[in-house]
Amino acid sequence: MATSVLDSPAAKGGSFLLESPAPQDVFTPADLTDDQKLIGQTAEEYVVKEVLPVVKDLEAKKPGLMAELVKKAAGLGLMSGATPEEYGGAGLDKIATTVLTEKISVYGGFAVTHGAHAGIGTLPIVYFGTEEQKKKYLPKLASGELIGAYCLSEPQAGSDAQNLLTRAVLNPEGTHYILNGQKMWITNGGFADLYIVFAKVDGEKLTAFIVERSFPGCKPGNEEHKMGIHGSSTTPVFLENCLVPKENVLHEIGRGHIVAFNVLNAGRFTLGASCVGGSKQVLMTASKYSKERKAFGKPIGDFGLLKEKLAEMAIRIFAVESMIYRSAGYIEAAMHAAAGSGNKTQNTMKVLEEYAIESSIAKVYGSEMLDFVVDEAVQIFGGYGFHEDYPVCRAYRDSRINRIFEGTNEINRMLIIQMLMKRAMGGQLPLVPAALKLADEILAGPSFEETPEGVLADEARTIASAKKMFLQAAGGALQKYREKLADEQELVAALANMVMEIYAMESGLLRAQKAAARKGPGASAAMIDAARVFIAEAAERVDHEAKRAIAAVHEGDQLSTQMAVLKRFGKRPVIDTIALRRRVAAAVRAQDRYPFEGR
Ligand SMILES: Cc1cc2nc3c(=O)[nH]c(=O)nc-3n(C[C@H](O)[C@H](O)[C@H](O)COP(=O)(O)OP(=O)(O)OC[C@H]3O[C@@H](n4cnc5c(N)ncnc54)[C@H](O)[C@@H]3O)c2cc1C
Repeated sequence: MATSVLDSPAAKGGSFLLESPAPQDVFTPADLTDDQKLIGQTAEEYVVKEVLPVVKDLEAKKPGLMAELVKKAAGLGLMSGATPEEYGGAGLDKIATTVLTEKISVYGGFAVTHGAHAGIGTLPIVYFGTEEQKKKYLPKLASGELIGAYCLSEPQAGSDAQNLLTRAVLNPEGTHYILNGQKMWITNGGFADLYIVFAKVDGEKLTAFIVERSFPGCKPGNEEHKMGIHGSSTTPVFLENCLVPKENVLHEIGRGHIVAFNVLNAGRFTLGASCVGGSKQVLMTASKYSKERKAFGKPIGDFGLLKEKLAEMAIRIFAVESMIYRSAGYIEAAMHAAAGSGNKTQNTMKVLEEYAIESSIAKVYGSEMLDFVVDEAVQIFGGYGFHEDYPVCRAYRDSRINRIFEGTNEINRMLIIQMLMKRAMGGQLPLVPAALKLADEILAGPSFEETPEGVLADEARTIASAKKMFLQAAGGALQKYREKLADEQELVAALANMVMEIYAMESGLLRAQKAAARKGPGASAAMIDAARVFIAEAAERVDHEAKRAIAAVHEGDQLSTQMAVLKRFGKRPVIDTIALRRRVAAAVRAQDRYPFEGR
C-alpha cells in the first residue's frame, strides 16, 4: 500500500513543548494518500450500510449479531489493520490504521468492539507473540474466525491494575499454568474466543497469557447493565482452575506489565482517533436537524446561539483531528526509520513509548472533546435529544465511557507529566535546560521581540508564550516538590492541562498554516478562523492553569513577581471570536458536516 510519510525525521515525543516545528514538518489529513482515504471510506461505508441499519437489534443484544458483523468486517480487512500481511492481516501503516479507526467509529458500540478486537485484543500477539503464537492465532483473528478481548481489570483493580489478584501456578507436570481469578468489564467478553489474560505467576510475577475460551475453566459471565455502548458486549470472565498450556505465555514471565502498558499506549491513541470519528457523525446529525427544526418562524440553526454551538463543535473536532494526525505522522515516521534495523518488537515498543505522552493526550483531549460535542448535540435537539428514538441520545450515553477506560482521564493526566519528567530526567528531553534558560530570560526583563509575519503569526507567538508559561509553572513546581511532585495531583493536572492545550493549539496552527501555504489563505479561510478561535480560547485556559499552578508553588513577593512575568507572557491581541465562529458555523451549515474533512 502507498504510504505517506514525512521527509523530515519525526520530532521526539514531548519535544513540542520546547521546539517550534514548521508546518511542512507535521502530517495533516490533507497529506493522506488515496489508498489511505479509500480504507477510511471502506470502513465508513461498512458501518453506515451494514451496522447502522441494525443498531436497534445490536442495542437489544440480539444473539450472534455483533459477532457476525465483526466477521463480515474482517472479510473486508477492517478488523486487522495493524496485523502484518504475512499473518493474514491488512498490514496497514499507522496513518492508515488511524483513518480506519476514525471512520469505523461512527457508531459507539461497534467502535468499542473494533478497538477491543483489532486493538488491545490482537496487538499483544502482534507485538509480543512468538512466531508459533503469531502463526497460530493472528490469521484467525484477522479473518474474524476468532474474536479477541483484553482482560486486565478486576473487580478490585482497575486503575490500580498491578494490584490484580488472578493467580497462575505451573502444574506439577510442568505443562500447563493453572489460572484462578475473576476479570471484570471485559469488552467482547460475551462472544470472544480468545482472551489476553493478565495474572500473577506464583502470586508475584505479572504475566500475560493467551487463553482460549474453550480451555477448561474459562467462562464468561453475564452481560453488564451499562449506561451506554449497549451494542457492545461487556462481561466478567471467570477463571476457575483454568488450564493454559505453557506455550501460551505471552512474552516473558514477570513482564506482563510491559505487555499491558505498551498495548494500552497504542489503545489510548486509537481511542482519540475513534472520538474524532464519533464526533463528526454527531456534528452532521446536529447540523441537519438545526435546519429542519423550526422555532419562532425560522430554522433553529439560524439563531446565533445555535450557530455558535455548531461552530464550536467543529472547532474542537478540528483541534483533536489535527493533533491525532500529527501524532500518527510522527509514529509512522519513527516506525519507518526504525524498520530494518534491530529487533522489530523492541523497535515498536520504543516508538510506542516515545509517543506515550502524545497518546495520553489523544485519549484525554479526544474523549473530553467528544463529550462536549455530544452534549451540545443533545442541546440542539432540545427535548428530542433526550429521547431514545433520536441518535444523539445514544451518542451522549455512548460517549461517557471514553473518559473511563484505557486508563481514566485522571490517571492519564498524571501519566502525561510523569512521562515528561521521566524523559527530562533521562536526558531525552532538555526540559530542565530550557526552564533554566527561561529563568535567565525572566531575570533579564522584557526584550525586543520581532513582529511576526504571515498567516496566523500572532497565534504562533501566543503559542510560544504558552510554552514559556508551561516552563515557568513546571520549573517552579519541580524545584519545589522534586520527586514528590506526583503527590501534588491537582498541580500535576494543571500542568497536564497546559501541555494538552499547547499540543492542541500548535497542531491546529500548523495544519492551518500548511493548508494556507498549499491552497492560499483565501481557500483556507474557515480553517484559519477555526484555528484563531481555538488558539484564543485555549490560551485563556493556559493562563488560568498557569495561575493555579504558580499560586500553588510560590507565595509572597515571589508570587507577585511570578504573576507579573505571567502577565507579560499572556499579552496577546484580542480577537472577535463571535464573528469568527459565525463564519465557521456558515462553513458547517453549507455542507451539514464537519467542514475540514481531508484538508
Ligand atoms: C464498558 C467498559 C468496558 C471496559 N473494557 C475493558 C476491557 O476490555 N478490558 C479491561 O481490562 N478493562 C476494561 N474496562 C475497565 C476499565 O479499564 C476500568 O474501569 C478503568 O481502568 C477504571 O478502573 P475502575 O473502574 O476500577 O475505577 P477506579 O480505579 O476505582 O477509579 C475510580 C476513580 O478514582 C480515580 N482514581 C483511581 N486511582 C487514582 C489515582 N491514583 N489518582 C487519582 N485518581 C485516581 C479514577 O480516575 C476514577 O475517577 C472497561 C470498563 C468499562 C466500564
